[in-house]
Amino acid sequence: MTQADDHTINELKEKLIIANGILDMEDLIRPQGHISVRIPGTDTFLITRAIAPGMATIDDIVVVNALDAKVISGKYTSTYGEVLAHAAIYQKRKDIESVAHTHSFYVRVLSITDTPLLPVSFEIMKVSYEPEKIGFYKEIWHLSNVYPQACFDVAELLGENRVVLLKAHGAMIATKSIEETTAVAMNLEEAAKLQVTAASLKPLVPFTEKEKAQLVSFLKPLEERGGTASVYGRAWEYYKFELSKKQSASDR
Ligand SMILES: [Zn+2]
Repeated sequence: MTQADDHTINELKEKLIIANGILDMEDLIRPQGHISVRIPGTDTFLITRAIAPGMATIDDIVVVNALDAKVISGKYTSTYGEVLAHAAIYQKRKDIESVAHTHSFYVRVLSITDTPLLPVSFEIMKVSYEPEKIGFYKEIWHLSNVYPQACFDVAELLGENRVVLLKAHGAMIATKSIEETTAVAMNLEEAAKLQVTAASLKPLVPFTEKEKAQLVSFLKPLEERGGTASVYGRAWEYYKFELSKKQSASDR
């Protein structure tokens, strides 16, 4: 892989600010939480300084070395304390291009129970074709008896999946693009909301193995289309549009 040029990095910076805005607008990371994006072909990534994501601008972006989680350039010299979890995932998974840490409400509801995510909705199948295999970190990761090792354990728990749940806290999300990470964060929250709400009414009815297989063969080609025709591309374009409407309304 070749090193990214300035044009690519500037494009990624713009996308990073849009992703921060979308996740803030959708109530997934305000005022805490964060998203990052790898500089392609390197062990470095872009993230904002420790600021509420919805307030971040291009000037708040710093470059972090994934090998030691230290800021190496930008106008600021530090970033979020949980940056190590991003770094640990980029270190372990060279195919991951974007990582987010969210504290969204319904994901947190699930994370204070020992209930795993179940194959009960379209939304969860968009997050994982095998939701029962989504990792669940069952220690309180901020506590000094497990942190910072918790970041490496979570990277391990990620396996080939896109998500790890964190006990009484939220989730780490890691995918192949910033658009995908943003959309998976939203699908994950929607899936958790559906599961929690449905479970409060009646026992859940998970998809059968046959239904799961059918859904995978339906969803897989949609994911592989790329661009705005893909599941994630379309979500990205839509929420980017919604964000620009919100921003132009607040400029008036
Ligand atoms: Zn957190």
